[in-house]
This record gives sequence, C-alpha cells and structure tokens, in this order.
Amino acid sequence: MLKNRNFQIQESIDTKRLKHPNAPSEKARGFFCNEEDAFAELRESSTFQIYANVRQAALELQDLTLMAKLNAGYMIAQEAKYHVKCLSTLTLYNSQM
Ligand SMILES: [Zn+2]
Repeated sequence: MLKNRNFQIQESIDTKRLKHPNAPSEKARGFFCNEEDAFAELRESSTFQIYANVRQAALELQDLTLMAKLNAGYMIAQEAKYHVKCLSTLTLYNSQM
C-alpha cells in the first residue's frame, strides 16, 4: 500500500515538471501573497505605473502591511516579482471603489 502511494506522489511531481520543461529552477516570492513560486510564474514590477496603482489600492484598502513595503521603496528597488493574478485582484478591487 505504502509503495503505491509513493509512486503516485512521484508521478505527480513528474507531471508538474513536464508542464514547464524550460522553466528555470530558481524561485522567488510573490510581492503581494508572499508565496514562493518559479520565476516563470512571476512578473517583474519594472514600471512606475504598477507601483502607482498598487500604492493607490493600498491606501484605499488601508493595507498597512502593503503600504509599509511600498514606503520602503521595496517594489521597484528590489525589482519585486508578482503574480498577475495577485495584482489584478488588488487593482480590480480598487477600481470598483
Ligand atoms: Zn502571488
């Protein structure tokens, strides 16, 4: 029984790897969710427009954690990586207000 379970876990890892055959093995943390993910899954915050949108959202949501990060100039200085999904969740919410 235990042997079968181990085989299943191994199989699911292999399937995941096949999905992104060229993805680099390096990982980074998402700026918003703080979750570790492969570089290929993350975008880099290279434009000031993203920073401005996020800052506006943080102010309106009164998200102190996010504001603290932004005040440190972290996002641009550290070339913060983020998930498109996480950014759109934040800015969509903001645009509805
Ligand atoms: Zn994320």
